Amino acid sequence: MRMVDLIEKKAAGEALSSSEIQYMITGYVNDSIPDYQMAAMMMAIRQRGMDGRETADLTLAMMHSGDVMNLDDLPGIKVDKHSTGGVADTTTLILAPLTAACGAMVAKMSGRGLGHTGGTLDKLESIPGVCVEQPMDYFKKVVRDQGICVIGQSGNLVPADKKMYALRDVTATVKSIPLIASSIMSKKLAAGADAIVLDVKTGSGAFMETEEEAHALADLMTQIGTHLNRKVSALVTDMNQPLGNAVGNALEVREAVLALSGEIPLTAPLMDVCFRLGSEMLILSNLAKDREEARSMLQSALNSGAGLKKLRQLITALGGDERYIDPVAIEELCSTKKQVDVPAIADGTIASMDTEKIGTAAQVLGAGRATKSDIIDPAVGLIMKKRLQDPVVKGEPLATLYINDDKNEAAAIRLLQEAMVIQ
Ligand code: URA
Ligand code: CA
Repeated sequence: MRMVDLIEKKAAGEALSSSEIQYMITGYVNDSIPDYQMAAMMMAIRQRGMDGRETADLTLAMMHSGDVMNLDDLPGIKVDKHSTGGVADTTTLILAPLTAACGAMVAKMSGRGLGHTGGTLDKLESIPGVCVEQPMDYFKKVVRDQGICVIGQSGNLVPADKKMYALRDVTATVKSIPLIASSIMSKKLAAGADAIVLDVKTGSGAFMETEEEAHALADLMTQIGTHLNRKVSALVTDMNQPLGNAVGNALEVREAVLALSGEIPLTAPLMDVCFRLGSEMLILSNLAKDREEARSMLQSALNSGAGLKKLRQLITALGGDERYIDPVAIEELCSTKKQVDVPAIADGTIASMDTEKIGTAAQVLGAGRATKSDIIDPAVGLIMKKRLQDPVVKGEPLATLYINDDKNEAAAIRLLQEAMVIQ
């Protein structure tokens, strides 16, 4: 087999066979296929697409390119949740404890933030003492004992995706539905979950800017999961504005703590998404028979404080100081040198938001990374003061910035004023 022939075949719009896909992934991971050929192939895939069978084969080949976790010795259905990347999206820190409090087995490997989106690991690390790198045996013990553990990827999980993603980033091949679906699903499957709930974001802050594309991605990932005998449920949720109000690391943990303390109304989009995703997790785990039952279980775990208690248990298990998991105590972690309001530049209503730009504003303040080696400042970020359709008067705050380093203040203010369109 020659890679050049496979590229030709895909460029002509033909489907690749299982063995061709296997050959390509094995060769790319062992360096016998160079980056330039893989780049050409991925562009051909971006232009010509892949059918469901090809995408499932690609997912499987990628999944088996490195270690595959086995969680079979843990009891029950191990459930995971994945979001395609949002802004002010602290759902994991709310619904992982809530569903665990309802009896779910949440064994989760999370990622770090890159670019305008935040990562759960960075948020957890804003709590003093937390270490997200834990041995596999310890991870399993915590899941067995408490029904919840969230750690960083351990071992050599899906090396094919690491190489392919780095190449996609610089060859304009990120926005390809089969490549996104196989990238996400290969990692989720290699991490060992039996059931996976996917939150596919759509809108100005998401990979999939239209709902049509988001539904296509959701359907494809569900098909792949079913093909590979996993229970998968996918929701498409809105990212035309930040999901919650907090963008930053400690600030988002504070929002999660407030949510689990019952201080955020259930009608807020953040809570709505948590309840919708959490319900799917309980249903796939066979803990609830339908959405109505699932919602009432989540509601009880919220009202009784059982969800907040689970978050404390998680933080303790990771070596963190659980005293901060409290609506008052956590303020200390969110204190910065100064807080600055971003004034509206006109009267009117908030007509649209460029969510990605809002994420970027928090990133330039130090809440996120431009490159993998950047260091995060856990306290900085921003709190949104306005949502879509809200009326606004010139000079009124659109958001409050939490700043430790003055040099990025002007850039962050400008990004937010550009991002929030007033009409
Ligand atoms: N997230 C991933 O993990 N992979 C993609 O390709 C896109 C989003
Ligand atoms: Ca996220």
